[in-house]
Amino acid sequence: MKEWRLWKRVKYESEVDLGFASEIASIPGGEKIFSCIQCGTCSGTCPVSQYMDYTPRRIVAMIRAGFKQEVLSSFTNWLCASCYSCSVECPRGVKITDVMYTLKRMAIQERVYPLRFPIPVLAREFYNSVMKCGRNNEIRLTLKLFLKTSPLQLLKQTFLGLRLLRQGRLKLKTESIENKKELHSLLQAQESGTYKVSKYEEHAVVGGTS
Ligand code: SF4
Ligand code: SF4
Repeated sequence: MKEWRLWKRVKYESEVDLGFASEIASIPGGEKIFSCIQCGTCSGTCPVSQYMDYTPRRIVAMIRAGFKQEVLSSFTNWLCASCYSCSVECPRGVKITDVMYTLKRMAIQERVYPLRFPIPVLAREFYNSVMKCGRNNEIRLTLKLFLKTSPLQLLKQTFLGLRLLRQGRLKLKTESIENKKELHSLLQAQESGTYKVSKYEEHAVVGGTS
């Protein structure tokens, strides 16, 4: 079995995407992936690497080798807990956590994430809801998540959902912000890389809000 899986991962040069590494290198600080010495410190320090299909060190190696399909469809990106441990410990300053965020975004855009795996579905539905109303509605989000990943779980959680509704912990109505246009242009600017993060926001992000 192991040999078969290894055989599946062997590729000819014509089958790999040699522009993939440049795509990742174009994010701020992304060019550091070319400085990686494959020491494995990131994988050793990662608290969830044992559950990943490819460790952070392998992800960096696969990006440089052009294994785009395998990297984008792996579970690794979605299991990353954004703890920044790998980024802090890396001796070459590779910002692996930021690379993981980029991979998640690309996987959603290209719809190559593991099907029925809840985390990417949750991320996509949350994003869609915020894009539409500027706010999230927990009931709708949970319903969509269960329907698209595990419909049976929906039946099991119905009682809990009703109890939370009765206690006012969940709301049926989706709130909406007034200036959706401004939100859309902000998100679009960020996606296209033209949005500049202010010093205050940078501090808030580093301080643990993301
Ligand atoms: S710790 Fe840094 S240099 Fe070492 S394998 Fe990971 S990314 Fe590469
Ligand atoms: S940021 Fe992600 S990849 Fe890096 S150590 Fe934490 S969980 Fe692992």
